[in-house]
Amino acid sequence: MKLKNNNAATASSGVPPKAVIVRIAPSPTGNLHVGTARTALFNFLFAKHNGGKFLIRIEDTDLERSKKEYEKDILEGLEWLGITSDEPVMRQSDRLEIYGKYAKQLIAKNLASEVDGAVILKNAQTEISFNDLIRGEIKFEDVPSELVILKSDGTPTYNFAVVIDDYEMGITHVIRGEDHISNTPRQILVIEALGFNRPQYIHIPMILAPDRSKLSKRHGATSLLEYREKGYLPQAMFNYLALLGWNPGTEQEIFSMAELIKVFDIAKIHKGGAIFDEKKLEWVNKQHINLLSPEEKIKIIAQEFDVKKIPELDTEKICWKDTSSEETLEHLIESKKIIENGDDLMPYAEREGKGNVLWPVRYALSGEEKSPDPFTLIAILGKDESVKRIEKAIESLSQK
Ligand code: GLU
Repeated sequence: MKLKNNNAATASSGVPPKAVIVRIAPSPTGNLHVGTARTALFNFLFAKHNGGKFLIRIEDTDLERSKKEYEKDILEGLEWLGITSDEPVMRQSDRLEIYGKYAKQLIAKNLASEVDGAVILKNAQTEISFNDLIRGEIKFEDVPSELVILKSDGTPTYNFAVVIDDYEMGITHVIRGEDHISNTPRQILVIEALGFNRPQYIHIPMILAPDRSKLSKRHGATSLLEYREKGYLPQAMFNYLALLGWNPGTEQEIFSMAELIKVFDIAKIHKGGAIFDEKKLEWVNKQHINLLSPEEKIKIIAQEFDVKKIPELDTEKICWKDTSSEETLEHLIESKKIIENGDDLMPYAEREGKGNVLWPVRYALSGEEKSPDPFTLIAILGKDESVKRIEKAIESLSQK
């Protein structure tokens, strides 16, 4: 006997019938939230896994709340993760005429009417159900009999604009947060009135705080770029976000983007909420740091540690513990010679006592008591600048 199976399980098996086209459709009413970044990432992985397209659409029809600076933050955050649109970014505010055109079609077909300048879609159905690739069939029994599609100021409502844009962009799969489940039947009403085909729907679980409440500011950073400021690697963030509500079903936790694209299987997205755990993110970040080459590590340290300027040297701080100024001076002079010759400082430091030698050299190079080790600093600064800085320390110390 052949079993008929229409639900999630078939989503992963077999190639999707049409070329996959998906999108992320952020509203620029705030900075890029980690939840939106994760939704973008699932869309991106799904598109790339299937050789399809990933598109970005800015939903900026709420003219009062939408801000260009938020749009910039969103696009910058996505780009930092390596998520870019396969076509020019679309903006709803550029498309107001198009929404008007579709509204007129509905009025002409007597499916919508104008009331006080607004356009309202009429609906005779009371029930709508749709298939969600993760959740199976979802049924709504209280479908509204009227739906505003254009407001009196001529701007479209969210549920109207989404349908038209998804249609015109050829979106095959709508992958978005489960907070949009209740919008889906309204969008289906518009789809049916306009005679479009339904996309596949995939509603993904929300990101929660460790106490399972909605992730908010009080739990820490919710804006993606705050994690860049904190020094996380984009590839670590990408890896961590991919694991929020999804896993490949193996023990592997550390992935490159290419590996994730290869193994990403939309049917393995979880139904339950995903907990954002910064400790875990830190761990993932460490693993990615370990994967870097020494040159890449130094580049990252250089970005984080400001080596451009050097504070006034405090001659009290140059000397290690109770090493005398005279001794320290001697070590600095010798170290300078070694560095100038391009030789390794370590044998000398080992002979004279690591602290005695490496502490003043490090302090001379960074002007700080806390900084990367002198070898890293020399690599960042280069020989000439390192020698110059040590000379300056020698000068300060000999004037003492
Ligand atoms: N503008 C909506 C949001 O930011 C998009 C929802 C959708 O993907 O349809 O949540």
